[in-house]
Amino acid sequence: MNERSVGVLYLVATPIGNLADMSPRAVEILRRVALIAAEDTRHSLPLLRHFGIATPLRALHEHNEDVQSPRLVERLLAGEDIALISDAGTPLVSDPGFPLVRLARAAGVRVSPVPGPCAAVVALSASGLSCDRFTFAGFPPRRGPARREWLESLCERPETLIFYESGHRIGDFLHDLGAVFPLSRPVVVARELTKLHETVYATTAGEAAGWVAADADRRKGEFVVLVGGAELQPGGEDMDAEAVRVLGILLRGGCSVKDASALAAEITGSRRRALYTRALRLAEEIDHV
Ligand code: SAM
Repeated sequence: MNERSVGVLYLVATPIGNLADMSPRAVEILRRVALIAAEDTRHSLPLLRHFGIATPLRALHEHNEDVQSPRLVERLLAGEDIALISDAGTPLVSDPGFPLVRLARAAGVRVSPVPGPCAAVVALSASGLSCDRFTFAGFPPRRGPARREWLESLCERPETLIFYESGHRIGDFLHDLGAVFPLSRPVVVARELTKLHETVYATTAGEAAGWVAADADRRKGEFVVLVGGAELQPGGEDMDAEAVRVLGILLRGGCSVKDASALAAEITGSRRRALYTRALRLAEEIDHV
């Protein structure tokens, strides 16, 4: 058997909102493969048309992937190259494809990633929270009691936590986050990344739900929510929520980062150094809103 007698399964990342983020290699591979397995073929057609990709499509989603995956592996073993795409971002990250990748690898098929956007990673990099260690927690449970129990199991984790959420549930999710996590825990709400209304807003567990509730536009679109780890806060402790609130008021009122952190330290008794670090982040976020 020569090497080319078995096909390659390409995992191709696609944009999460901004078409200009499609990589030239992604386009080249999607044009060249025998078949594109897509989460939702109707959803992907406009993207593929935009880039002049006329490759045949086959649906591969959570309801058919157990049946479709073995069929696709047969085609790979017969020598065809296949690409997998999802509706947006990196396949398999809260998206279909795991059974296909597992089966393909078990069958000795080469699985080759074609990297591109992933909402979790781009939100993390822009969040100002520690990127050294993080947990991608994905979508929270939809029902309140299960969601709160799940959040409780994550609350003491020392690393940055990353959640996905839709506009429909963002209010309820942030409400539960505030009920379970210490009120002063840093939270970053990243919304509509790479799109026109991109927002990366730094707040706290105690204030996040209120911020989103205050303006209907803030609840629109797609969200990544990031939470600072339990042991990685300045001074090794969760910063006082009141101190962060005062800091926000002073910064929005026009104080410099230096003055705002000095004043907030005087008013609340929190440590000036920790407030300064937090103020730098808050000031950046306020500029972005
Ligand atoms: N595979 C995708 C990835 O690599 O990011 C994620 C797919 S998951 C089904 C969709 C979720 O990702 C959305 O509900 C939202 O939480 C997040 N997401 C996707 N695009 C986003 C964007 N442009 N801004 C913020 N969050 C986004």
